Amino acid sequence: MATCCLLSCQSTSTKSQNMTDPKHPNNPYYSHTDTTLLNLPDATWKKILPNEVYQIARNKDTERPFTGKYYNYEGIGTYYCAACGNTLFRSDSKFSSTCGWPSFFETTRKNSVLYKSDTSFGMERTEVLCGRCNAHLGHLFDDGPPPTGKRYCMNSVVLEFEPDENTKTKQ
Ligand SMILES: [Zn+2]
Repeated sequence: MATCCLLSCQSTSTKSQNMTDPKHPNNPYYSHTDTTLLNLPDATWKKILPNEVYQIARNKDTERPFTGKYYNYEGIGTYYCAACGNTLFRSDSKFSSTCGWPSFFETTRKNSVLYKSDTSFGMERTEVLCGRCNAHLGHLFDDGPPPTGKRYCMNSVVLEFEPDENTKTKQ
């Protein structure tokens, strides 16, 4: 079962070549357990990421509202960074927002993401980046619901959802 693989992978994080995630055969850096920071040149990302992921993650593009696969998705599980597999959000922090992008009120861990001031397009916004690989994920706004009042407005393309039954160990 896939769960045994998860355990053995954790202890051998130096050479990732032979433990490539089966869903990401071209991306040796993809991992849900390895939290080593990635600092890869754009050329490498271009080679290993699907073009639509690359355009948002590295070129800070934005998907058109109401077109993403997760904007009104209600599955129970975890959202990971589509570029590196870093754990970002739990489905219970997702809320329905009218903005057309998947929205969350908190991340799973404090350092799941990084924040950067973004003054592009004449607006003052807070950019949200993946805390492991620096991929552009979306923006953070202060008009979210309690308890945090935050709205993480994310691009579906750079998120990858895994339902709980795939990740939980069966007792
Ligand atoms: Zn990432």
